[in-house]
This record gives sequence, C-alpha cells and structure tokens, in this order.
Amino acid sequence: MNTTAHFDADVAIIGYGPSGLAAALCLGHYGIRTIALERDRAIYPRARAVTVNDWTMRCFQSLGLDEELARTMDPTVALRWITYQGHQITRMDFPPSRLGRHPTSYAIYQPAMEEVLRRANERHAEHVDVRFGVEVTDVVQDSEGVTVTSRDLGTGETQTVRARYVLACDGGGSTMRERLGIRLIGETREVKWVVIDARVKRWWPERHILTFWSDKQRPVVDIALAQGNHRWEFPLEPHESEDDFKTHEQLWTLLNPLGVTQDDVEIHQHAFYRHHIRHAERWREGRVFLVGDAGHLMPPWAGSGMQSGVRDAFNIAWKLREVLRGRLPETLLDTYQAEREPNVAFYTGVAVQLGRIIQQQLSDEEMAAMAPKPGEPPPEPPLLWNPWYDAGWFRGATAPDSAVGKMIPQPRVADARGRLCWLDELLGDGFVLLGDGVNPRTELTAEEKAAWDALGARHLCVLSPEQQGHGSDDVVDLDGTLLAWMRRYGSKVLAVRPDRFVAAADRSGMALPEAGRP
Ligand SMILES: Cc1cc2nc3c(=O)[nH]c(=O)nc-3n(C[C@H](O)[C@H](O)[C@H](O)COP(=O)(O)OP(=O)(O)OC[C@H]3O[C@@H](n4cnc5c(N)ncnc54)[C@H](O)[C@@H]3O)c2cc1C
Repeated sequence: MNTTAHFDADVAIIGYGPSGLAAALCLGHYGIRTIALERDRAIYPRARAVTVNDWTMRCFQSLGLDEELARTMDPTVALRWITYQGHQITRMDFPPSRLGRHPTSYAIYQPAMEEVLRRANERHAEHVDVRFGVEVTDVVQDSEGVTVTSRDLGTGETQTVRARYVLACDGGGSTMRERLGIRLIGETREVKWVVIDARVKRWWPERHILTFWSDKQRPVVDIALAQGNHRWEFPLEPHESEDDFKTHEQLWTLLNPLGVTQDDVEIHQHAFYRHHIRHAERWREGRVFLVGDAGHLMPPWAGSGMQSGVRDAFNIAWKLREVLRGRLPETLLDTYQAEREPNVAFYTGVAVQLGRIIQQQLSDEEMAAMAPKPGEPPPEPPLLWNPWYDAGWFRGATAPDSAVGKMIPQPRVADARGRLCWLDELLGDGFVLLGDGVNPRTELTAEEKAAWDALGARHLCVLSPEQQGHGSDDVVDLDGTLLAWMRRYGSKVLAVRPDRFVAAADRSGMALPEAGRP
C-alpha cells in the first residue's frame, strides 16, 4: 500500500469525550478535514465533571457556543466549609470574572454539556466525519502521516484512516499512549471515594452553595449540579469496601447524617473511584499528540480535569491550523506541551492542595500561612488567577510584570460603526495586533509588519470613549478595562494569538516569537 499518496483527513481524533469533541469542534470551525473515531455510541452517562470557568467558556465563545452552553449551566454563587454540627467555618462568594463576559464559574451537568457540543458539531459535517462504534487498535506513522487502524464493533470489520496528524483523546486509560510507549508518571491515591449523583425533588437551605463538610474521618464534597442534579463525594474508610455501599439503602447511611432524605432527592447512580496525580512523560510522539486525560490526570478538587483537556484541544487546534495552512513551521507544534504541561501541573497542584484542606490534612503552620495577614486583604485563591503560560510561542520573557504569556481581558467595546459588543466578537479567529490609541502598523518595523501580515494579523486601534475615532480599525474600550490592563504592563502595542494570549508586546519586541519561526 502506498501510505503517503492519499490522506483521508488532515487530522484524525481518537476518542470523542470532552477533549476529542472540543478538538473536533475547533478543527471543524476552522474548516480542517477531520475524522473522529469513538468506541461508544452514547454519551458517557456519568456526570464526572461538575464545573467550567470563565476561561473555558471563552474558548467555547470563540466557536459561538457559549450562550447555548450557558443555558444548560448555573453560575456558581459561593462555596463554604461547614461541620457536621452545622457550624460554618468560612465562606467565599465568587467574585465577578476578571476576564469579563462570563461568570467566574458555572455548575454544569456534563452529559447535557456534551449533548450540546455533539449537536453543534453536526453543523461541521462538511469537514468533520464522526464515526461511532469504532475502536482504534493501532497507529503507525511515517514521515508524511499516520495510518490509524480501527475495528467496527458492530461488523468486526477493520478500517484504516490515513491522516497527517492524530490527536489521541482516548482518556486516562489511553491505549494509544501505551502503543506509543509513553509512560504515565505519578501516583494513584489509596483512598477510594464513592460518588453519588441524585435528582433534586425539593429545595433545601443553601442547596446551591458548593459545600465542603469538614471532617477528618468523613469529609464530604456536596455540589449542586446543573439541570436539577446534585452530587456528593465521600471517602471510604480503611475498613470499608465497595460492598458496603452497593444498595441505595446503604448509600442513605452516608446522606442522612447531612440532613438529606428521600424527600429531598432521588439517587440515580453511584460510582467508586481513586484519585490519580499523573502525567504522560511526553505529549507528542512524531505526528501524534496526547490530549486531555490521555496526557494528564488530576484529583477532582479544583474542577479542572475536563477543562484542562478542553484547553489542550483549543491550544493544539489553532497550531495545527497554522501548520496545515503552511503559515507557521512544524516546530510550532512543540509549543503545545511547552505551554500546556506547566499549566496543567499548576492546576494539579491546586487540586492536591484543596484536597488536603478538605480532608483537614494541613499542619498548623500551613493553616497559619494561609490566614490573611493583619491589615492586608485575604490572598486571592489561585483558582481565580488570570490564565497565563510560562513558556511557548511568545516573544520575550513571560515575567509577572509583562503582558506576554497572559490572556487579555474581554471588556464591552464598540466597533468603528458604534455597535456595542464583547471584545472577542471583534477579534475573530486569527491574530490581532492592538495599539493603545495608535494603529499598531505605525509602531512596527517593516520586517515585523511583514511577518504579522503573513499570518493574516489584523491591526486594531484601542480608544477610550472620550477619544475621537480614526476609522474602520478602531475599537472603543467602553469601561477602560483593556487600556488599563495594557498600561499596567507598560505596553502600547500587543500581538494577540487566536487563543487570546499575548504573543508579543512592544516592551520586549514585536518580532514573531522565536519558537516556530519560519
Ligand atoms: C468524580 C469525578 C469528578 C470530576 N470533576 C471534574 C470537574 O469538576 N471539572 C473538570 O474539569 N473535570 C472533572 N473530572 C474529570 C473529567 O471528567 C475528565 O477529565 C474528562 O472527562 C476527560 O475527558 P477526555 O475526553 O480527555 O477523556 P474521556 O472522557 O475519558 O473520553 C475518552 C473517550 O475516548 C474513547 N476511547 C477510548 N479508547 C478508545 C479507542 N481505542 N478507540 C476509540 N475510542 C476510544 C472513550 O470511549 C471515551 O469516549 C472529574 C472526574 C471524576 C471521575
């Protein structure tokens, strides 16, 4: 067989869970020929992920899906720690998002979210071919592409698909990762947890507040999911096993001490799981990339497992687009792991630490270090920090006092014709250069301008509402958020990537980033 002449798709996606689905949506949106292969026909019925935040919703906004998704979700109001005796230890209201546009956090119901995303992807049928009931058994690559072999689980027939690149989105137990000989490094915690999902029958006080029942022996995570669902997670004690919680009657012995009865909820499923703190030793093998749980697993405490997979998908998708279009070189794809791995490690660390707090495992010294200092505002929880990358496709250092590597905020703006909208609605899918009161073109050298023009970058002049407009390239920053943000980092001109992270700023130079330079 001639393996190089014909390609069935530019990208083959293995696995159509949240990560594969997000990748397929992005690639379809960009018009890239994609084939997705998924073993199961139905959406996984267990509501594993419970939350998405403003960053993840901004990703979906770029595909025009945030409003449709938000209709299946509930904004998160607050979280609190309480004791079994009903004493409230502390409470935190969720502040408005610093990114703008979306609430800081939403409660979701994962099957409902996946349903919306799957339906949305049907609109890309021209570019994205999704094949269900197909199990991928092998991937073989050469210098030109990858041959993916799969078995139709209905007919037993073997199929092959030839693609230029493959995204292995086949979950924590990824057989593709194994086939590629990539080790999954880290640990799996001993303690087993039982997760109980229920449907609400009647309201109870503070049901909508995310609650951690603090107790050394039996801490509980108590979460209102969207669409009238509710979740509790309990650790099993050393002397307990799955057999102790097989029936609903047994599960009620866990819920009743929280004051929850059969009048309040109907249990509809439960499952047992252990926490993994693991990552793949490398996320790329030639033309195959690990995406989502296939590349990393974290405990659920920070609500960031699924979200990290979705963000992986958005990160690799625009890079594949640029490489497939021939606008940036193949080495750009190496920045996928360089950017995503430290970011996932950060959220994994936050999840581990939150788990220690919930299970009351912090020492007195650690508790004291976390307490607000007299006269100072309480430290901002790391989960609320603005998104950033440490290294990758960036020009210059990603230092704390530089805009480079950080995600820009999204304020309300007006376009040149006076139409009011959110910033991202004007930015589109590509690269955009923003100038504070100036057209960025006027601030670039001829070489810099040519390099950004070759990427199809647009140039926008950001004005305050008091300024006189120049013309069609103007954006009016209605409440001054974006201009204040640029000035905070001493930037008059910024180059913004398709994922809204700043690639370059005039302070450290406006040439194209080194990594992946043609
Ligand atoms: C109790 C619990 C709570 C959680 N809470 C949160 C939360 O609040 N927020 C959050 O962000 N995350 C949370 N997570 C994590 C989240 O559910 C996962 O990170 C997410 O589902 C991973 O998505 P994925 O697409 O990478 O993998 P998966 O969802 O595992 O999907 C992989 C897909 O690949 C398919 N597949 C596998 N092998 C093959 C093959 N050989 N051929 C074809 N198809 C194949 C599978 O059928 C599956 O559909 C939680 C997890 C648990 C267990």
